[in-house]
Amino acid sequence: MIALSLAEVASAVDGRLVAADPATLVTASVEFDSRKVTPGGLFVAFDGEKVDGHDYAAAAVDTGAVAVLGTREVPGVPMILVADALAAMGRLARAVVDRLPELTVIGLTGSSGKTTTKDLIAQLTARLGETVAPPGSFNNELGHPYTALQAGPSTRYLVMEKGARGIGHVRYLCDVAPPRISVVLNVGVSHIGEFGSQENIALAKGELVEALPADGLAVLNADDPLVDAMATRTVARVVRYGEAAHADVRAVDVTVDERGRPAYTLVTPEGSAPVRLGLTGRHQVGNTLAAAAVARELGMPLAELAIALGALGLVSTRRMDVFERADGVTVIDDSYNANPASMAVALRALAGIGRGGRTVAVLGYMAELGEFEVPGHAEVGRLAAELGVDRLLVVGDAAAPIHHGATSVGNWGGESVLLTDQAAAVEVLRSELRPGDVVLVKGSRYRTWEVADALRADAA
Ligand code: ATP
Ligand code: MG
Repeated sequence: MIALSLAEVASAVDGRLVAADPATLVTASVEFDSRKVTPGGLFVAFDGEKVDGHDYAAAAVDTGAVAVLGTREVPGVPMILVADALAAMGRLARAVVDRLPELTVIGLTGSSGKTTTKDLIAQLTARLGETVAPPGSFNNELGHPYTALQAGPSTRYLVMEKGARGIGHVRYLCDVAPPRISVVLNVGVSHIGEFGSQENIALAKGELVEALPADGLAVLNADDPLVDAMATRTVARVVRYGEAAHADVRAVDVTVDERGRPAYTLVTPEGSAPVRLGLTGRHQVGNTLAAAAVARELGMPLAELAIALGALGLVSTRRMDVFERADGVTVIDDSYNANPASMAVALRALAGIGRGGRTVAVLGYMAELGEFEVPGHAEVGRLAAELGVDRLLVVGDAAAPIHHGATSVGNWGGESVLLTDQAAAVEVLRSELRPGDVVLVKGSRYRTWEVADALRADAA
């Protein structure tokens, strides 16, 4: 955060000062949880469904907040009054970003892999300069300005995931923090229930490259036709990444070892270099290429880039988080979220890992698929069978089409079972798992992670 006077804050958010000295400086962070307020900070009071932030305004001031940004007066509390506190936070974030000319905002969107790739990009930019990136997903109208407000004079890179839940959503987030580099990963069918069609999803995600200035850069996935086509929607330069022959930042000779870790030759206009990843899953080839395209643009030399890619690790949990238990069972905890595309990459990773035993997939329900709900689940089941996964545990009635999809594959040598809940899955796993087995746990939240946690606890 940069120091701003209350007068500057009020002007940025079009607010009215009440019982507050315009010259007072905000010198610490902007918080909407009063427990996080520190002396010199600003507290934002939201009028939520369960709690009203204004009830905590006095407490925030007691802790040291210099003022409270809110929608109604609280007696005895210095306030900046606005009509809409969330919109005000967005405008304040924008004012801060505009005051930081040396800051490069890097935005990324896609149906799958945003958080993963955000973390990869942030690890690379951290080698080049001070980087601010939010923990986890934090990608909406609240998380976005909250993260942007953490940028200060010494921050060089702000890496932000911009999630699209509807048309205009990404555009709004780009108004809050205008990107100079925009990365689009893929267009799948997540949230298709809200969008209606994949074309609409592409329309919404493309807003990220439309927001770029002429001296900006669009980093597009050459392997995804809907993303590739976004080149026509930007005035900025375009760099493509992928395995396709026309990609500028390219992976060739891709291999995956028995632990599921990819290696490839990175080919760029500057030359090529071997890369060996410490990450699991073939989909990390594309994610790391996207990150490489960004780091290259920011000036990282090829030799350093190849080394930096090899050193990338996981930051946000439950995303292809692989651990091997002392009893020889390997667990892939990918339970953070799921859609058909991310189920597919996770199943491919599972099928590609060879530890001498069986491959087991514990799969749960995928939300927000709309009319694709039944076919989307069935397709995942079929893929599991076609990939030759040995054992499938489908958790919850809502996910039943996964089970039906798998059992519809005639020549599958594996076996699927439909279970009522996570506890039932844990029970089956406890009785069946043997050394050398590899277990993938994945679902769209819905506490699928309880299964992964139980497998972790059993090993402790
Ligand atoms: P959300 O919309 O929930 O924020 P996200 O786009 O941030 O999701 P991540 O949390 O990074 O996605 O990844 C979720 C899962 O998607 C991963 O655990 C992995 O299974 C899968 N995944 C990661 N990268 C890709 C990719 N490039 N293509 C398809 N699936 C991917
Ligand atoms: Mg995310």
